[in-house]
Amino acid sequence: MTEKFTTEVYYDEDADGSHLDGKTVAVLGYGSQGHAHALNLHESGVDVVVGLREDSSSRAEAEEAGLEVATPDDAAAQADVVSILVPDTVQPAVFEAIEPELDEGDTVQFAHGFNIHYNQIEPPEYVDVTMVAPKSPGHLVRRNYERDQGTPGLIAVYQDVSGGAKEEALAYAKGIGCTRAGVIETSFKEEVETDLFGEQAVLCGGVTSLVKHGYETLVDAGYSPEMAYFECLNELKLIVDLMYEGGLGGMWDSVSDTAEYGGLTEGDEILDDHVRENMEETLERVQNGEFAREWIAENQAGRPSYTQLRAAEKDHEIEDVGARLRELFAWEESESESADEQERVNADD
Ligand code: NAD
Ligand code: MG
Repeated sequence: MTEKFTTEVYYDEDADGSHLDGKTVAVLGYGSQGHAHALNLHESGVDVVVGLREDSSSRAEAEEAGLEVATPDDAAAQADVVSILVPDTVQPAVFEAIEPELDEGDTVQFAHGFNIHYNQIEPPEYVDVTMVAPKSPGHLVRRNYERDQGTPGLIAVYQDVSGGAKEEALAYAKGIGCTRAGVIETSFKEEVETDLFGEQAVLCGGVTSLVKHGYETLVDAGYSPEMAYFECLNELKLIVDLMYEGGLGGMWDSVSDTAEYGGLTEGDEILDDHVRENMEETLERVQNGEFAREWIAENQAGRPSYTQLRAAEKDHEIEDVGARLRELFAWEESESESADEQERVNADD
């Protein structure tokens, strides 16, 4: 493998907060990302207004936290930077409502590139379009900031009419605490395609499928569901924690030689070349827009397949077994952020 690490990492000293001086940031939405961005920016001294619908249940919460709240269009009218942090599926409608409030040189900012990359939002040519995407759920973005720690993040510039889009995005990343940990620059295309591929092939889709296949193989062979659950789901956390801390090598070093030898010899037999071919097809459907078109149509139709798939997943035997075992056993949640961990990689409904 050739050396491919070419990306520059930006830290606090590379980001100049003054690029937000005298500007107002409208944060539309007060969910996972929205509340974290709004509170962190506010505490970093940035002028923030939260945009929420009149009937939004989050209004009281944002006001109690000391934030100014307005309707999305009023917030956008006051703002120089409009950060769109409502769920991806409702962003096109929210954008349509606030678009008339955008002035020349304003910035429209995202935390995920889906709607821009797949042309669900087509911003006017007189605004900057940027992305600041923490690589973590919003509750950790908030908690890290409160502990004087940072959250790694990405920035991207899609449209730069002001000539200062990147500097402003870095200032925003600094305001939410991302440059404390490190920020890298990407493009909307790369962020979207890698994010969708990762969650489908490995993180959410791949790993759940692997767990279910392992569980079913043991149970069908006559082993107890409890043993199958511990072996194929529960212990996954321990392995992933080791990989998180020390990469694959850190994990191999910590497991027994027997586990290492068996893992090294059998892993590629289980996830063989077919898996690689399937992954390439998944990536292709992301790249050619087929997945995006399917997901958009699914939403327009009222989510019929999604509802069915969700129900079927809930019905899987491993879920009952797990619920029972989690009640019977008290396992240590060290300094765990269980609420954050349970948050989906990309909550969008
Ligand atoms: P969310 O689902 O947590 O919250 C969205 C908020 O939007 C709600 O709390 C509500 O205040 C508001 N809202 C909901 N429906 C609305 C509607 N119909 N009209 C107006 N407002 C509405 O969203 P999120 O997970 O914070 O995602 C926001 C953006 O951040 C998305 O682009 C997402 O891809 C991106 N992102 C999320 C994460 C994550 O881990 N959650 C990580 C990185 C990027
Ligand atoms: Mg994601």
